[in-house]
Amino acid sequence: MSREIEKYCPAGHSSEDIAYSNCKNFINSDGNCSLCTKERFIQEFKTWSSGNVNIDKVIQEFQINYICDKFHWIPYNDFQNINYIADGGHEFMYSAKLKNGIKLHWNFIRQNWGYHLIGRKVALKEIKDSRYDIVEFLKMVKTINDFGFIAKFYGISKNPSTQNYIIVMESFDYNLHYFLAKKFWNLRWKSKINILASIASGLRILHGKDLVHCDLNSGNILNPNESGAISVIGLDLCKFENDLILNSNNSNNNKSNKIYGSIPYIPPEVLRGNKFTWEGDIYSFGGVMYEIVTAQRPFADQAHDTYLMIDICNGVRPKVPDFMLNWIPEWYLNLMYRCWSDDPSERPTTDEIVNLFWDVSEKLVLGIVNNDVMRQLKIANENQRHTSKSQKQEFFELFSYSSKLHPQSCYFSRSIHTLHGLHDLLEEIKSGQSSVLRGNKFTWEGDIYSFGGVMYEIVTAQRPFADQAHDTYLMIDICNGVRPKVPDFMLNWIPEWYLNLMYRCWSDDPSERPTTDEIVNLFWDVSEKLVLGIVNNDVMRQLKIANENQRHTSKSQKQEFFELFSYSSKLHPQSCYFSRSIHTLHGLHDLLEEIKSGQSSDPNLLY
Ligand SMILES: [Zn+2]
Repeated sequence: MSREIEKYCPAGHSSEDIAYSNCKNFINSDGNCSLCTKERFIQEFKTWSSGNVNIDKVIQEFQINYICDKFHWIPYNDFQNINYIADGGHEFMYSAKLKNGIKLHWNFIRQNWGYHLIGRKVALKEIKDSRYDIVEFLKMVKTINDFGFIAKFYGISKNPSTQNYIIVMESFDYNLHYFLAKKFWNLRWKSKINILASIASGLRILHGKDLVHCDLNSGNILNPNESGAISVIGLDLCKFENDLILNSNNSNNNKSNKIYGSIPYIPPEVLRGNKFTWEGDIYSFGGVMYEIVTAQRPFADQAHDTYLMIDICNGVRPKVPDFMLNWIPEWYLNLMYRCWSDDPSERPTTDEIVNLFWDVSEKLVLGIVNNDVMRQLKIANENQRHTSKSQKQEFFELFSYSSKLHPQSCYFSRSIHTLHGLHDLLEEIKSGQSSVLRGNKFTWEGDIYSFGGVMYEIVTAQRPFADQAHDTYLMIDICNGVRPKVPDFMLNWIPEWYLNLMYRCWSDDPSERPTTDEIVNLFWDVSEKLVLGIVNNDVMRQLKIANENQRHTSKSQKQEFFELFSYSSKLHPQSCYFSRSIHTLHGLHDLLEEIKSGQSSDPNLLY
């Protein structure tokens, strides 16, 4: 008997009333009435605030104009089990649980809220970049939050200690990359096609709303399964085609100096410094098509650096291993390579892709083989089923090899300078506005410089430049004389001669650095005197004072030290302390000059 539709609620609302734009009021005997819910939301407007009138206004509009998929103000103390996941550049990512869930309906019988998503795991994105326009972002959410194929946004919150806003999103433990790594061998073409059709459908919705995803890759295609139908796309960087959510402040002549993403999925025009467009999303979709048929991420075996960016701009694309080719229909490979066209206008549209994949999907279900597309698919299926043992062996080896990623590959989104930005920077240096353009030999004096870094870590417990990206910009800073900083409060724990020696090791002019002889003699001498308790010179006197200072450090200073220490153990996401191949500033400048002068195969690489 329950759930039957009632004509009137106790408050006098009728089921003939209009509750939302085109929907009649829904009333049932369980205590639901859309108009009561709406009125209750309005009554509660005065009980909360985000601290920003414009944000409040958007949330309020959501609550009174949308039947489901509303967007809420979620108090920070509603989150449980908050876990730090990553620093995404513009934001910190966390996961958490919704302790109380989210308000769904006002129940007129119980005179209380009914909640949903109680105990549900969510993703928290804490916006730390002050240029991020949250109101603009909410406008975007409003246009897409009630569509399938796209991850849901639940609301907004604020971190009381940082005062940063937090966007609360749907979260899944599973993404396409992990799914493929686990299920690839058992995955049928039917599943592959359904997954791709779902992703393309999500993209088509975004493009239909004037939005560009800007960061499509296997890591933010969420919750896939064998039926493929419920794949959803996560929207970390999504923005309006003509209306930037993140107002770029470093562009000149419409060129960006810096972009955000993972190099293998970024289209060549964007690597050069141009705008990310709908056609750019299609290029990224090509990377997903590649992973679905090879189980490998694009360019997994290469360093994701400036050289790869230049290769991509010169037309290099991920390779499908030869022995896999007869497992993949020709039309599929052609479509994938069209997505990767250097000329954005040659790439397929979402319409073309969606129509093709849903058509194939339907025919696979019904067993229809009435054209070349379906015939090629049938043959590919049979070839894969009849693959010889040795070939499968070869594949397994490749597969297990590919899971060993290149140490300089990077599949999370990070800040990258475009070729345009890099060239500008190096031009500036060359024109004398900056004094560096290096690429000299590593000498004995070079070892002494490195020894300075070890001296630094021994007295601060921090690695040099732990809190910075280890990129070309840092290289330029170092050449300009920037050195790791000793925290002020630590200075009286360290003898002055020690600091002087460390900074001499770090001299920009190699001839000013101490020799190993000088260092060895000094340290053994001090060591001996420390054992014997001799304090007969300035070196030993300063050491004694430093020792005493450290012993008498106040609790609050020690507290500050510990905080710094635990903070520094969270390394900058783009720091890198293993040894890797790095191009010198000299090498990078030569390379970019060559491109600019037209000696490169693509003289327009930078434009
Ligand atoms: Zn009512």
